[in-house]
Amino acid sequence: MSATITAPAYRVIPIIPTLKPGSMEGPGPFVANEKIQEGLGFPGKLVDDWHDQAIAKMGELLGKYRSLKVFMDTCVHCGACSDKCHYFIGTQDPKNMPVARQDLMRSVYRRYFTLPGKLFPKLVGARDLTREVLDEWHNYYHQCSECRRCSVFCPYGIDTAEVTMAGREILDSVGYGQKYDNEIIGKVHKIGNNLGLPGPALKDTLEGLEEDVKEATGIDVKFPVDVKGAEVLLITPSADFFAEPHIDSLIGYGKVFHATGTSWTLSSMSSEAANFGMFIGNYEQLRKVALRIRQAALELGVKRIVVGECGHAWRVAYSFWNTLTGVGDGADQDDKFAMMLQKQLDHRYKQPSHICEFTWDLIERGALSFDKEANDKHIITFHDSCNVARGSRMGDYPGGQFDIPRNIIKTVANHFVEMDPGTTHERTFCCGGGGGLLTDDLMDLRVKGALPRMEVLQQVVDQHGVNFLAVICAICKTQFSKVMPYYGFDRNMVGGVHQLVSNAIKLGAK
Ligand code: SF4
Ligand code: SF4
Repeated sequence: MSATITAPAYRVIPIIPTLKPGSMEGPGPFVANEKIQEGLGFPGKLVDDWHDQAIAKMGELLGKYRSLKVFMDTCVHCGACSDKCHYFIGTQDPKNMPVARQDLMRSVYRRYFTLPGKLFPKLVGARDLTREVLDEWHNYYHQCSECRRCSVFCPYGIDTAEVTMAGREILDSVGYGQKYDNEIIGKVHKIGNNLGLPGPALKDTLEGLEEDVKEATGIDVKFPVDVKGAEVLLITPSADFFAEPHIDSLIGYGKVFHATGTSWTLSSMSSEAANFGMFIGNYEQLRKVALRIRQAALELGVKRIVVGECGHAWRVAYSFWNTLTGVGDGADQDDKFAMMLQKQLDHRYKQPSHICEFTWDLIERGALSFDKEANDKHIITFHDSCNVARGSRMGDYPGGQFDIPRNIIKTVANHFVEMDPGTTHERTFCCGGGGGLLTDDLMDLRVKGALPRMEVLQQVVDQHGVNFLAVICAICKTQFSKVMPYYGFDRNMVGGVHQLVSNAIKLGAK
């Protein structure tokens, strides 16, 4: 054997899952009851003429959303998306291939909305909308986290998430909604957050947190609520108020505000960044949830709105708040409350801002100091959350949403490694619990859907000793904490980027 010849490094061989047809067939998630459905203005239970109403709704959506019609017409079944979905990889059920998920609706579309489908249904793969098909929709449109990974690989840019949203919207319109999502939306309308945590309980919780932080640091870090005239309104996922590890990031935000003397407040009326209206594809619900934030901002007279660590909430804020509420460019000139808010907000700052943008801006301006060694016990990797990676930006330049959280981590900690590049940035895998699927009745799906992320995490654990998985999404935090033990990981490995900030920030240094 020649000493000058070396074998090339082994490649990571793509593994194409074997098929297990029917492995995830079933009733799907719990169906919303009458009270939950009617609370959102949907029929309480499956209506008698569900067939005609569902087809009419599909026609309405096809007319309203041109993208949906394009997605129905343009797929060439090339298969490029088929092995890109974490739920297909984890479950091996062929109906969880993105193309198959679309075809659940496309086959019905062809039957009722195309001439060949009306004349020769079998020839073109067109199907009647039967009760069996409707049940399939309920099941498999709740096995998609709307993560949009598949669309990154589709040569036509077909977005399966939008097909899923349309499917869920049709199901709601005929009284066949999902319990978890719709119950949560109802709680936000009634109380102001996903948890149903009333204002006085929130204030008590935050007072308790102030005491805990004082005990740990000796410093009076405040977590103010309903402070009129504060500069910043923080809209954060309600899980930050009490769940682990979420609360550690809330402490981090509080410390950043404290260290810079920023006057800030939470709102007891609008104490939720999450917006499950997007998950069910319903514009009216999406808007109604978002409008609570506008109301809070107007009542409190704040100058800036900052959004905490929550993936889909940031997508809604970044992409939709402008037209929904008037926060950001492109507000509706005829909406007088949107115009009032536009006038009130300070446009020297980006509206809205992500908490990572807020913190990174301060770091760049030298306004924060850190003791990086405080995080030395952590060897950190970063999981890009889907809705941040593929549905938004930070810093207003392409890729800012990838750089800024990483820049913060590298500023506050010494040990950072990346996971396999095929699974990060815009190619990131979903945690397995997004898109309104973070419910115990879907635990089997959630555990299986986490497989691709867990496999890659295992690689960096083995190669680099990674012991901290940093994320900027409340759903990722909950999902990983719950499913990691199934894969032999310690659930405490997961934490927020501002948890790391909190560990290292020097309070009172500047
Ligand atoms: S879960 Fe993500 S990858 Fe899978 S079909 Fe839905 S949008 Fe596509
Ligand atoms: S990659 Fe696009 S065109 Fe190809 S099968 Fe998937 S959705 Fe259809």
